[in-house]
Amino acid sequence: MSAPTLRIDLAVFADNIRTVRARVAPAELLLVVKDDAYGHGLDRIVMAAVQEQVSWFGSSDLETALAVRFLVGASPRILAWPAGGLARLRNAVAESIDLGVGDLALLDSAAAAAKECGVTARVHLKIDTGLRRNGFRPEQWGDALGRARGYEDAGLIEVVAVWSHIAEASDDEDDAARALFDDAVDAARQAGCAIELRHLAASAASFARPEFTYDLVRVGAFCFGIRSADGPSEQSLGIRPIASFEGAVTQVSTEGVTVALGSFDGVPSTLGARVEVGTPGGRRALLRVDEETMLVEAWPGAAVGDTVVLFGPGGAGEDSATTLAESIGTIGEEILLRVSPLVSRAYR
Ligand SMILES: *Cc1c(COP(=O)(O)O)cnc(C)c1O
Repeated sequence: MSAPTLRIDLAVFADNIRTVRARVAPAELLLVVKDDAYGHGLDRIVMAAVQEQVSWFGSSDLETALAVRFLVGASPRILAWPAGGLARLRNAVAESIDLGVGDLALLDSAAAAAKECGVTARVHLKIDTGLRRNGFRPEQWGDALGRARGYEDAGLIEVVAVWSHIAEASDDEDDAARALFDDAVDAARQAGCAIELRHLAASAASFARPEFTYDLVRVGAFCFGIRSADGPSEQSLGIRPIASFEGAVTQVSTEGVTVALGSFDGVPSTLGARVEVGTPGGRRALLRVDEETMLVEAWPGAAVGDTVVLFGPGGAGEDSATTLAESIGTIGEEILLRVSPLVSRAYR
């Protein structure tokens, strides 16, 4: 009996990377690999990206950034934008991790870590252009630049980039954010920072709004084939999901077909009676999700051991993770990230 498995197609991942790069050129791709590469498994994803000559990686946390450095060696650039967990800041600075910095405390810590390590820390200063997730507020920007310039003069940091994160929800809001962003870049240059890079866009804006791509785009979702909920189709974007989640039939009864999902609660039970799944007999209703199993509408000839696909690229008639997510008002990442690390990942 085959155990539930998240199957990951690295060739499709490589295709998605090529599609994203062609779309955003001449801007470069920074592949975002936070949350264990969106649940796909950090190591294999990073190594596959290196084969595609991806030269920038990024994660919110320092642990992931350090793990990527271990995998890729010295030359690729790695950006971390830590909100906490600063215990590893010295390691990160010593390992040439670029730091996304959006508050004075982190700026001070970065400079202190650089001093201890005897190196110059590469800093990407973050301006808050409205998302309020973090970043210097526009009214703090002058102070931030002043303090950063002081650390530059002391040889402790080098401000290599200005960046921000936008909502990608409404064009008007994003345009307003972009105007604030451009002002922040101008101010940084006037203050004497040699800004090499500007980066603003994640997946959605990097495809939909060419003027948002600047020098670098930070893309996770689209490289994994996860489209935006209520956004353009995979087909129109030219990407495909790289992961499919499948389980085996353990029982066929008058009630329906029982499929083992493993002993975890990774599949939202709210999907029950809302979506269809892929079976050897085509699309069938997902009747109910229990703790370790799901119950699926029967198909002719259903047998113990048959494979049922909950989400994936569509080969067995299944929907994408994002389509499932839309039926319960969330995003595709949420579905992927809930697949337990205990479920085996199989790569090809
Ligand atoms: C997660 C994240 C991204 C990537 O967003 P996608 O929509 O997955 O491409 C980019 N920038 C920041 C700051 C993020 O946290």
